[in-house]
Amino acid sequence: MRIILIGPPGVGKGTQAALLEQRLNLKTLSSGVIFRAEIEAETDLGRLAKRYIEHGELVPNGVTIEMMAKRIRSDEVRRHGFVLDGFPRTVRQAEALQEILAEMTMPLDKAVSIDVSDDVVLSRLAGRIGCTKCGEIYHSVTKPPKREGICDKCNSPLFVRTDDQPETIRERLRVFRENTAPVRDFYRERGLLQVVDGSKDPEEIYGEIVDGAQA
Ligand code: AMP
Repeated sequence: MRIILIGPPGVGKGTQAALLEQRLNLKTLSSGVIFRAEIEAETDLGRLAKRYIEHGELVPNGVTIEMMAKRIRSDEVRRHGFVLDGFPRTVRQAEALQEILAEMTMPLDKAVSIDVSDDVVLSRLAGRIGCTKCGEIYHSVTKPPKREGICDKCNSPLFVRTDDQPETIRERLRVFRENTAPVRDFYRERGLLQVVDGSKDPEEIYGEIVDGAQA
């Protein structure tokens, strides 16, 4: 299966990507996770990306497409299929992805748009805490870890993303509406879009993604 997850920050793309990877053995490629790893490793790309990410802006298309293209072209992705989380985020990126997949004769099965209101996004992101190592996501109110600041799964320290501050969240929502909402239309026009309600339970959303037809 080859699938794209589209949605505003905090909608649960990462949660669905993790479920799809565990249960269908798909390879997850999350552009945000890859950028954060580059920042952590202090690479040139990480230094460049950091300037944009800290302000909730998009990293420029050229470097983002190059970074993702390299990984999409890997043997592992060819063998297992993929779930793309956070990419494409602009129509230019969606066009580039179509070209890469055409070149590889690996057509996309569908793009899933996970939709929720801005209020839900703001309340979810305001308490979000992530694991530095395994990427597990917690929430200070709705899903606290058993021990404060420590991951239940791998005992690594938890962190609050610097771009999960209220002002930056608002900017990321604006950027989403301006740049990423048109990506939904791109896939709708090609008969590849499935819309799911992101306020539902993650298991229910997962079921719809796996069973559902495109709109
Ligand atoms: P995420 O973890 O998906 O919320 O991504 C965190 C940040 O990384 C975003 O707010 C952007 O600054 C940057 N980013 C992630 N994916 C992309 C992309 N496809 N294009 C441009 N910037 C991106």
